[in-house]
Amino acid sequence: MSNAEIQIKNVSMAYAGKNGEDIVALNDVSLDIKEGEFISLLGPSGCGKTTLLRIIADLLQPTSGSVSILGQSPREIRLQKKYGIVFQSPVLYDWRTIRRNICMPMEIMGIPKKERTSRIDKMLDLVGLQDFGYKYPFELSGGMQQRVGIARALALDPDFLLMDEPFSALDEFTREKLNEDLLSVWSKTHKTVIFVTHNIPESVFLSDRVVVLSPHPGRVSAVVDINLPRPRENAIRETPEFYEYVAKIRRSFEGV
Ligand code: ADP
Ligand code: MG
Repeated sequence: MSNAEIQIKNVSMAYAGKNGEDIVALNDVSLDIKEGEFISLLGPSGCGKTTLLRIIADLLQPTSGSVSILGQSPREIRLQKKYGIVFQSPVLYDWRTIRRNICMPMEIMGIPKKERTSRIDKMLDLVGLQDFGYKYPFELSGGMQQRVGIARALALDPDFLLMDEPFSALDEFTREKLNEDLLSVWSKTHKTVIFVTHNIPESVFLSDRVVVLSPHPGRVSAVVDINLPRPRENAIRETPEFYEYVAKIRRSFEGV
């Protein structure tokens, strides 16, 4: 018996290429994810990270294999609004204030106004944007916009937070700050997080486990437990243990 919350079993994905040939994006990927775990999918561009995330989110059907979430299908989980998704670019509506952007999914779900207002306050608080609710997206920096994306994804209180390279368009300083802040949000919300990145230090800093994917075709080449103490702050990046994890993962890419 496995105590996994998400079971990914022998998932393969082939896209149809221009000339009808198969483009194999994932080959026989199996992975168990535990409840409340922070897991990263790490690998170079083209190794199938987004494909795997989209299959988990029911945005894409695998060619073969299955994903099961506490006995339910991704589709059932999606229909219950249990996924919160954050993409690389937060796709905010320019003509809506930050509050009204965060409100969008709740409006669609028909959540009453009073409840919406109180949740927006809570979310702004959570991501540290208390003073920016009545601003418009263009008035915010890239890092702040990404915080809005996170707040919006969490507004419906999903069980699973799926994040696809959410910080890769940000500068290094902003990225490290958001890494720290994301851990603080995670420790307050206890979501299961699946975080896609191609940045090794970022995956080490954030995760309980790093799943290393290698390309052509995408497959799991290593799974590394990150036994760094929590709560983690950016100073941990300067410790020998941190360097050792980064080096270990980097080595696992050699010879790929
Ligand atoms: P990653 O997110 O790790 O960069 P992707 O999951 O986006 O990787 O892509 C994995 C592989 O599948 C790549 O070779 C990519 O070119 C290919 N691919 C992704 N989406 C499609 C698609 N819609 N049609 C054809 N090939 C695709
Ligand atoms: Mg991708």
